[in-house]
Order: sequence, then C-alpha cells, then structure tokens
Amino acid sequence: MNLRVPGPTPVPPAALAAAGRQMINHRGPEFAQLLSEATAKLQACFRTRNDLLILTGSGTGAMEAAVVNLLSPGDRVLSVCIGAFGERWAEIARAFGADVRMLEFPWGEAADPDAVAAALRSDPTIKAVLVTHNETSTGVTNDLEAIAGVVRQSEALLMVDAISSAGAIELESDGWGCDVVIGASQKAWMAPPGVAMVSMSERAWRAHAAAQMPRFYWDFTAAKRQAERGMTPWTPAVSVIYALAAALSLIETEGLPQVIARHRRVGARMRGHVRALGLGLLPADDAYASDTTTAIRVPPGIEAAQLLRLLREEHGVVLAGGQGRLAGKIVRVGHLGWVQEADVDAVAEAMAAVLPRLGWGR
Ligand SMILES: *Cc1c(COP(=O)(O)O)cnc(C)c1O
Repeated sequence: MNLRVPGPTPVPPAALAAAGRQMINHRGPEFAQLLSEATAKLQACFRTRNDLLILTGSGTGAMEAAVVNLLSPGDRVLSVCIGAFGERWAEIARAFGADVRMLEFPWGEAADPDAVAAALRSDPTIKAVLVTHNETSTGVTNDLEAIAGVVRQSEALLMVDAISSAGAIELESDGWGCDVVIGASQKAWMAPPGVAMVSMSERAWRAHAAAQMPRFYWDFTAAKRQAERGMTPWTPAVSVIYALAAALSLIETEGLPQVIARHRRVGARMRGHVRALGLGLLPADDAYASDTTTAIRVPPGIEAAQLLRLLREEHGVVLAGGQGRLAGKIVRVGHLGWVQEADVDAVAEAMAAVLPRLGWGR
C-alpha cells in the first residue's frame, strides 16, 4: 500500500521494529534514558531550548492540553482560522469557556499577518492567539514567522498547532517567539499514532501558573515535575516512544535541513504532477502551498469517493478526502515523514490511469 494520507504516515522498518520491543518499567532507568533522548532530539527539531513535554494522546489531545494549561474561563482568545484544524482549535478553546474571537480567511488561502496585527491592536485584552502552522485540511502553510512577528508586538501568547509541519517544514520555535508549539507522532515523525509533544516557553509557564481551566490528565505541572525525574505522570505509550526515538535517530542522521529540503522537493514535485494532469490545486498561490499535504480540486462530474476507491482498490494508493465544507470537493495527498519523490510519482501515475475512466479528459 502507498499510504498517502496526512497521518498516520508510513513507519520505516527501524521504527517499526523498535515498536515491537519488550516492555520496560516506565518508572525505571531505561525509560528515563529513552524519554530524555527523545526529548532532546525533539527539542532540536522544534528549534527550541524550552521545555518540551511528551504526552500520551493524539495531537488534538495536546491542543486541548495547551488550552487548559494556559487559559482561564472567560479569557479572550483570537483564533486565526484558515481551515478545519483552525476551527478545531477554536472549538476546543470555546468548550473550556474561552471567549473566542474568530479571524477567518477563505479556505485555500493563508492568513494575512496584517489582519492579525489589526485584530490585536483593536483588542488589547486578547490573551492568546491560536494559529495553525500548516492547515492540513486545505494544503496551506501559514507564514508563521510573519504572524509570530506581529503577535510578539503584543502581550498575547502565541499558541501554534504545528502538528503537520513540525519535523518537515521550517519552524523556528524560539527564533520566531512561539510560546506553545504542538506536534504529533504520526505525522512527519514517522512513528505510529499515540504520542504528542508540546513545547512551553517561559511566558507560557507564567500563564500556566495563573490558568484556571479544569484539568487533570493533561496537567503540565505534573508533566514537568515527572519529566524532570525521567518519567511521565501516567503510563505512557511506551511502544510509540520506542518507535519515535528510532525515527528521530533517522531524522538526526539525515539532518533536519535535509529533511526539510526533501519535503520541499517532494511537495513541489506533487504540485507539478497535479498541473501536468490538468487538475487544479486548492491553494490559489504556490507561495503558501504546503510541502506536506497537497489539496487537489476534484473536477466537476467526478465523484471524489469513487476516485479514492479506484486509487485504493486498483493501485494501492490511499489518499484522503476533504474535511468539513470541502468534503467531496478535494482529495488530499499526504507527503510527510517517510516519503521520497518516487512515492508521489506513484500517486500521479495511479491518478493518470484512473481519471480517464471516470470521464476526465475524454
Ligand atoms: C492531524 C492534525 C491534527 C489532529 O491530530 P490528531 O492526532 O488526529 O488528534 C491537528 N492539527 C493538524 C494541523 C493536523 O494535521
């Protein structure tokens, strides 16, 4: 199978083998060693010297963890939303009683940093800004550096969902002044699902000390205290952390700049294939097209579900459909983590074979 959804992503053999290792005491020295190695390697990839917590849960769990650990009910939050994952960020904050102001952009476009600046200027009570670095539902990468630049002109916290960008797309957590940055094991990290990571700046820890939202499993005070002792507060997904550590070694060997360059090459190549097939991309401008996920417009008269089925059944190519309002309108190719040019070439070949049978180009 050529699994080309934007997570879970294929796991390389070394990481898969690591996941099959025997259990260890999660309160013993081997686990402490494993956790500390994985943490250090993740910090290097997040480009941060801040604390980084490894949590057992999916990316959404870590988003919820960030919200409940930094905010109090009634806090005003600016949600910069360019797609379904931006909506999810806002929904989580709303669910715990934040006063969420939406700054929405058309799906398929990137957020305008000037509009973020204007929103912050017009409301100095905004306590935090929620941003999606790479919007997996639309295949758009925000200019996080520019957005962070304007947020840093204010007192607001910058909370970043980097779940489909971290480890694949340039991200300078400290250099750009991000307070919270979130990732998840099953995306660019080439590990199975089940583990998420959150980096926390000094400013984020100060906000945490005053934050009143209810929490227990996700409490970062407990997570930090235990991390300092080489542990997690609750039983961690040991097998996933084995795999993650092995995959992080692969990233270290290849080199993060090389990994980012590979994603850039593969992303550009996939977009080239889409154009060569005569299809349209959802992002209007290549300048913000994502190097980890390509969103392809489904041409009129073709049923997305049928296209996905033929690709899967006849070519072993597994793509994702559209989410929310884009359901049936786009298909998405995930090209993050363990991916090479040949993988997206195979996607394009399969599409070239299947599309004419659905009436495209006849
Ligand atoms: C995948 C993804 C999520 C959700 O992560 P889960 O692990 O499925 O909970 C959130 N945000 C973005 C940008 C994603 O790509």
